Amino acid sequence: MPCCSADSCASSTGSSPRFRRVLWIVLAINGGMFAAEIVAGMLAGSAALQADALDFFADASNYAISLFVLGMNLKWRAGAAWIKGASMGLFGLWVLGAVVWHMAYGSVPHAPTMGVIGTVALLANLICLILLMAFRDGDANMRSVWICSRNDVIANVAVLLAALGVFGTGTGWPDFIVASLMAVLALQGAATILRDATREWRSAERLSAVPVLR
Ligand SMILES: [Zn+2]
Repeated sequence: MPCCSADSCASSTGSSPRFRRVLWIVLAINGGMFAAEIVAGMLAGSAALQADALDFFADASNYAISLFVLGMNLKWRAGAAWIKGASMGLFGLWVLGAVVWHMAYGSVPHAPTMGVIGTVALLANLICLILLMAFRDGDANMRSVWICSRNDVIANVAVLLAALGVFGTGTGWPDFIVASLMAVLALQGAATILRDATREWRSAERLSAVPVLR
């Protein structure tokens, strides 16, 4: 699910070199886990792992936007947010497609792989939480990091429960249900991001259309 926005993550501390280094580290962790969960999800035949990868993608995008785009003008920021929302939407549809595919073939995901990768994902999110907590900047910022991490941990635990359910029932249903829920949440998040980004883009257009008074 979509986490803290880039602005709330890196509002005023964004310029500090130490905070930028932490942003680079959490960007690498989230980017790496996105790739790892996509590949593991395909190898294990688990749609839930691929759905969990979506959140790592969203978070990696936020940290990348904080690092590269936040200082740029409103139009660039709106454009970056739009690309992120559109990518999340496409990934969400792809996960739903994977669910339909696995249901049609009645495939059963490999539960041990789900358990191991789900645990690694949980640890990765906890490490990011600890790193970001050291840079909390006011109550609002702290709160957004908390909400963000709590949602990530809930998603990781859902994947672990799905692994347990697959193991216990010998069917793919726990995986399909968890993956569908996470994909729908991601699609809702993507729709909100696209709507906000479109509005920001339009207001940036209006601002740039105002003639400069000399
Ligand atoms: Zn997240």
